[in-house]
Amino acid sequence: MATIQLHDKKFVPYISEKEIDEAIASIAERINRDFEGKKPVFMGVLNGSFMFVSDLMKKITIDCELSFVKLASYHGTESTGMVNALIGLNDELTDRHVVILEDIVDTGKTLEYLLEILKTHDTASLSVVTLLLKPDVFKKKYPLQYVGKNIPNKFVVGYGLDYNELGRNLREIYQLADE
Ligand code: 5GP
Repeated sequence: MATIQLHDKKFVPYISEKEIDEAIASIAERINRDFEGKKPVFMGVLNGSFMFVSDLMKKITIDCELSFVKLASYHGTESTGMVNALIGLNDELTDRHVVILEDIVDTGKTLEYLLEILKTHDTASLSVVTLLLKPDVFKKKYPLQYVGKNIPNKFVVGYGLDYNELGRNLREIYQLADE
């Protein structure tokens, strides 16, 4: 794996395919155990989560449903904190075990917004899975039940994550190179 360039920025290899796979396997193992017989509704948050959701679902062995929602909020390499409307929430979620699937949690604002909406739906339970978490930035009070990997406060791309729409197709995760 070599350094890559996306738009005006350079990125260096950071998390390998193997490491991603291992993190997902460990999340899947816990979910398969915790939600056995509960027929959870997985809710992938687009666009960034598409690759993670796809790989995670291949390792889920229990009965489950899957849908996607979208809330665009991000431009460039810094969170604007601006959250737009939620698209795609059509399913009946009353008394269901809802499991949100996120690619990355940074400040947690995006997720907070989604959780606020879902809390009005009388779900049986509400849990959060995120492949990546920036614990130095995340200061919210709500719990994140399943975290694949804690990472430092540096911008990452690849494996579904973009820098101004480039980089989503990369199989590994890359980190913004130091200037
Ligand atoms: P938050 O609301 O937690 O600050 O930001 C969450 C959203 O910002 C994520 O769903 C993701 O779209 C975007 N984001 C946060 N950190 C990064 C990052 O390091 N790289 C990329 N590509 N997107 C990020």
